[in-house]
Amino acid sequence: PATTLQDIISHAKEYGFVFPSSEIYDGLQAVYDYGQNGVELKNNLKQVWWKAMTQLHDNIVGIDAAIFMHPLTWKASGHVDGFNDPMIDNKDSKKRYRADQLLEGKAEEYEAAGEPEKAAALLAKMGALLGAEKLDEVRELIIEEKIVCPISKTLNWTEVRQFNLMFSTQVGSVAEDSSNIYLRPETAQGIFVNFLNVQKSGRMKVPFGIAQIGKAFRNEIVARQFIFRMREFEQMEMQFFIKPGTEMEWYNTWKDTRLKFHKAIGLPADKLKYHDHDKLAHYANAAVDIEYQFPFGFREIEGIHSRTDFDLKNHQELSKKKQQYFDPELGEDGKAIGNYIPYVVETSVGADRLFLATFCNAFTQETGEKERTYLKLHPALAPIKAAVLPLVKKDGLAEKAQEIANSLKSSFRTIYDDGGAIGKRYTRQDLIGTPYCIAVDYQTMEDNTVTIRHRDSMEQERIAISALKEKIGYEVAM
Ligand code: ATP
Repeated sequence: PATTLQDIISHAKEYGFVFPSSEIYDGLQAVYDYGQNGVELKNNLKQVWWKAMTQLHDNIVGIDAAIFMHPLTWKASGHVDGFNDPMIDNKDSKKRYRADQLLEGKAEEYEAAGEPEKAAALLAKMGALLGAEKLDEVRELIIEEKIVCPISKTLNWTEVRQFNLMFSTQVGSVAEDSSNIYLRPETAQGIFVNFLNVQKSGRMKVPFGIAQIGKAFRNEIVARQFIFRMREFEQMEMQFFIKPGTEMEWYNTWKDTRLKFHKAIGLPADKLKYHDHDKLAHYANAAVDIEYQFPFGFREIEGIHSRTDFDLKNHQELSKKKQQYFDPELGEDGKAIGNYIPYVVETSVGADRLFLATFCNAFTQETGEKERTYLKLHPALAPIKAAVLPLVKKDGLAEKAQEIANSLKSSFRTIYDDGGAIGKRYTRQDLIGTPYCIAVDYQTMEDNTVTIRHRDSMEQERIAISALKEKIGYEVAM
């Protein structure tokens, strides 16, 4: 049977990956918590990304900027004035929705009903209308598609208007003293405002990049699709500073590099595609999404944007601090290139969306004789790399297994489990995606060998304890 989003949500909850936030109080909409296995998978994804960006590129370094930023940051970025999210209100329920998400919901219905062409056509039409800012026609499309308010069930919609989704809060203790600041809606600006700090202190030469992983906040109106769209989420962004005029070259390079990354961590080529933007954001001169085929259709997991000098130029204007780079090279005309504001190509991927894509892709249900459910995660991403299981607890087998688990622990996440029949213990590991189960039996006591059971093939092989570390150590090939 085809995997549904509900299968994914249930499995994620039952096996300690993702829980609804504040669940004992019936949860908080569009907010989720990662459980004991989820946090490991997410950390592994972040680590692989961090390594791909910083460790494997001599000219990319990382930073960790604060979530709170000076309010002028959001003026410079265009977030305060540039309202980018099309909202529509239902006159009966007085509820507000994001117009694009109502239409996406309809596309999902088509998808679920086995009509992917209809879904794609609707999304394309919506993209074109939003791109041309034809908000009246967006409303007409909603009515044409008979999309009713989920609460009032009526078609009584207002016009579509643009809003912004930033959360604000106060800093300072006394009301009169306090000033309004925002929770950052993207991590990118923390990189831009530190561009010169990093460039100077690290003596970085253009082209170079700054990478960051961190929380971002958007007051998303519609809570749907599990962790795909949350109000508090995590971004992994890299801003690549380049010489003006070289942006298309770098845009294409990063487009390529990032698709390769997703394949390297195990997402299959046929479930990934590029989607060129019909609508360019106010800061971009070229933009593409990398989309993954979720159970609810192809959706964005990462955006690659050529942002020109939009951000640095605006920060220079508002801060009155030069945001220029001095290029010591000589140009083609033999003259020194000198000062300029670099252009930027950005790659921006949601850690949570990448988690969801990885999780959906790994979720495997086999039917028939070998009926079982397991997570076919890339071994480098699996929450637990190895489980050591004594066949029985007596005759020193438990102690031997403990000893093996302890010897592996500092190299990778290893657990020891002696509870229940061995078949049950294998199943438990399959369900959370552990790639290797190490069984300790009577032969182990004689010759120091163990059996390794492979998660995907369920095949078992006998190997020496001393060979375990090398067998299990696993990296993403990039
Ligand atoms: P969407 O159109 O789906 O709202 P976006 O185009 O606004 O996304 P960007 O601003 O380009 O997204 O953000 C970059 C990445 O951050 C996205 O590709 C996505 O992975 C992630 N992201 C954005 N908004 C959310 C959210 N509400 N919840 C989880 N991840 C998000």
